[in-house]
Formats: sequence, C-alpha cells, structure tokens
Amino acid sequence: MNHTADQHGNEPLDRAKGYVYIVGAGPGDPELITVKAQRVLSEADVILYDDLVSLELVDQFNALKIYTGKRKDSHHFEQEEINREIVRHASEGKTVVRLKGGDPFIFGRGGEEIDTLRNVGIHYEIIPGITAAHGASAYTEIPLTMRRISSSVAFCTGHPVNRIQVPDTDTIVYYMVASTVHDVLDAVAAKGRSGATMVAVVQSATQYNQKTYTGTLDEFRRREKAVYSPALLIIGDSIGQFIEHNWHSRKKKVLMTGGDSSRYSSTDYIMVHFPCRKISGADLDAVNRVLDHIADYSLLFFPNKFSVKYFFRFLFESGRDVRSLAHMTICTAGSAAAAELQESGLVADHYLEPDGTVGYAERLRELCVSGQQILLPGSSITDDSLVAGLTQMGNSVTPLGVYAHEVRQDEVIDLDFIDEIYFSSPVCVRNFQTLFKTIPGRITVTTADRSTQNEYDSLFGD
Ligand code: SAH
Repeated sequence: MNHTADQHGNEPLDRAKGYVYIVGAGPGDPELITVKAQRVLSEADVILYDDLVSLELVDQFNALKIYTGKRKDSHHFEQEEINREIVRHASEGKTVVRLKGGDPFIFGRGGEEIDTLRNVGIHYEIIPGITAAHGASAYTEIPLTMRRISSSVAFCTGHPVNRIQVPDTDTIVYYMVASTVHDVLDAVAAKGRSGATMVAVVQSATQYNQKTYTGTLDEFRRREKAVYSPALLIIGDSIGQFIEHNWHSRKKKVLMTGGDSSRYSSTDYIMVHFPCRKISGADLDAVNRVLDHIADYSLLFFPNKFSVKYFFRFLFESGRDVRSLAHMTICTAGSAAAAELQESGLVADHYLEPDGTVGYAERLRELCVSGQQILLPGSSITDDSLVAGLTQMGNSVTPLGVYAHEVRQDEVIDLDFIDEIYFSSPVCVRNFQTLFKTIPGRITVTTADRSTQNEYDSLFGD
C-alpha cells in the first residue's frame, strides 16, 4: 500500500492539481439549480458551460467563463477539446466547473468527461441537475407516472434515426427530437402502440417561451409542424392531464431590462432578464487618456483575469511599463486575476476571493478603502453596482473598458411570448430600440421614471 494513502486506501488530494465539478444546471429556468451547484459556481475559477445553460445563471458568477457550445458562428468545441480544456485548467491548480444543461448523466456526456479525469488522476465530483424531462413534466403539469395511468417511464434519445428504441414502458420521453420527431413517431407506431396514444411536444421547457403541443400519435404523424430545439417528445396517457392554462402559462412574462424586479410578485409574473447592453470593444482614446494621467490614480482594482491581461497590453503598447504603477495600491479579485498579474511581475496588495454572496464593494469596505482615486479596468460593460458601492464609500471611480464583453449573440428574446416590458433607464430604451425596431401593441410597457418614459415616447411613440 502506498504510504501516503489513508486507512481506506484513499490517496490524499494532490494540491498541485485542481478540482473539477461536473454540474447539472437544470433545464433552463435559472432558478432550477441546486444549492450545492450554486455554491461551487461561486467558488469556481473557471466555468465551462454548454449551449443549454441559462446565461442569466452563468452571468451571476465571477469565474473565467468559457462557452463550449456548438452554435453556428462560434468556435466549435469537440468533446475531445472540452476534455483537454478541463484538464488544462485543473492541472493549473484551478477549481473548474463543467456546467451542463439538465443532468450531466442524462445524455450529457458526463460519463466521458469523468473517464478522462480518471485517466489523468484529477479529482472530481458530480452534482446532479434537474433533467429536461422532469422540468418539462412539472412545467406542463404532465406527470411522468400516475396511479392507474402510468407506472413506468423511460428516457430515450431520438438519435440516430436507425437506432431509435421503443421500450415497453407506459410513458416514454424522447430527447434530441427536433429533427427526428417523425422518425420517432414511426418507430413507436411500428412497435404496435395504438394510434390513439397521447403525444406531447414540449419546446424550451421551463423557460419563458415554453410551448406545448398535444395530440394523438396518429394526429402527430400526419402533422407537418416544425419542432424547434430544445424539444422533448413525451408519449403516454398521462398527457391526458395536460391543460392549456396551467400554472406556468398563466403567469405574465415580463422582460426586465434592469432595475429591481421585486415590484412583480413571483406568483403572478415570470421575470425574463434581458439587460440589453450595447456591445463594443475597448475605446482606445479613452484608454490612452487614462494612461496619460495614470499618476493621478491611487488604487487599481482588477475584477478579473481579462481586465489584467488587456490593461497591461495597453500599458506596454503605450511605451510604459509596470514602474508607472509603482505609486498605486493594486487589488485583484479571484485567483485567475492574481495569477495573471504575476505574469507581469506584480503581486497584488489586496487579493479578494469571490464569494457569491458579498460583493466586491463590500469586501473593499472591510479594507477601509476610502478617499481613493480608483481606476477600474474591465469589460466595455461597467459593473454599475461596484462603481456605485465604491463611490458611496467616498472614492472617485473611473471605469475603463479594456476589452469587449463576449456575449452569445444568438441569445435573442422572442417577443411573441412577452406580456410586459420594464425599461429601467433611457439607455435601455435606446439599446432595445437598436435590437427591436418596434414593440407589438399588445405588450404593456412600464418605465422606471420620467426620463425613461420620455425616451420611450420619443423612440417608440406614434
Ligand atoms: N443533459 C440534458 C440533456 C442534454 S441532450 C438533460 O438532462 O436535460 C439535449 C436535449 O435535451 C435536447 O435536444 C432536448 O431534447 C432536451 N432538452 C434540454 N433542455 C430542454 C428544454 N429546456 N426543453 C426541452 N427539451 C430540452
């Protein structure tokens, strides 16, 4: 036995290596995540997330975020490459969260990822998530099992079409059916299920734009309706429980462009958070203006790794070096930012660890940061609450966009599902107008204050 192993034969944790969490993010509604997943996300240095993970969820955490999805126009990550990325970050001693839609072990390739981790000897754990079938079932009021109606349920995949399985269970839920619904239905009919068997298609389950179609097997086989991904196909007689006006469809969907959503009660409304930010890169003139007056600043706060990386790139390109920062106190947030800073030969005076509950402004308050001229390099999108917090503490804060915020450009809101829009500021109205030229008349519009209302009237008024 290895002399370092404990009495159960377990090897001690190799601290040089990081730790990986394979985490299920749930089916779409950002609140359908476990408390445990939420905690490890707030501790993570790196989050690698998939297509089906809600951006609203990912946005809440400070880690380095890497989108590994497979959408058009973005870098396509093959599974091999994702495995390599996980190992690369973990080998640098980082805490890595691999965040997947639904549950990692239901058509989630979690099994392959842990295989890789076992092979390279990186420690990991798995945090389950609510799989799409459970989300769809709850949000459509279609029970997967029900006394006297369904006493068994199977989860199957609709891919590939030549290997579709039709188990002998009362209820079957098919995943990955957007392009194969008819093949699946043909396979089910070929297995001898009656044409009167009930069928439901649930698109975007648990999200504001959830849509359900129900009918019989025969009706669906005749129907030529397109099915949009992500979608599930449910087969079985408990679908008879479905009602159009269910708890989820009954609620009004409010598009929140920002501000405080507590004015909307959660029993009557579903909040769809859509910050409608304008995306732009670094403003070179602004960066150079600040660098010309770098002597005026007393504290430099780097909220993440990218802010460090790009700030130094501009600093060096302008012909300066780290000596021009010698008079300043330097703070970083998160281990990735601290590591990046060391690359430039600097060690932070204060090093804040992200902790999902207490904001950075609060942490800097504990360090008695006051009366400072703070320079805050970051993305082109300013963290308003951080700036407000630091300003309140008697500092003068200069946010400086040194890199463009990367967004999933294809994350568009389908206004057909929206009942109300809440504009929190005139900027939001303007940005919204560049994205959506018009607002359908049936949508109620609410504005936060007079100036926002004026902006709305001038841009959208008749
Ligand atoms: N691990 C995931 C499944 C990944 S496979 C889970 O446990 O849910 C991807 C398939 O999941 C999609 O093709 C679709 O069939 C299903 N899916 C995921 N999220 C969904 C959603 N919100 N609504 C409907 N189907 C969804």
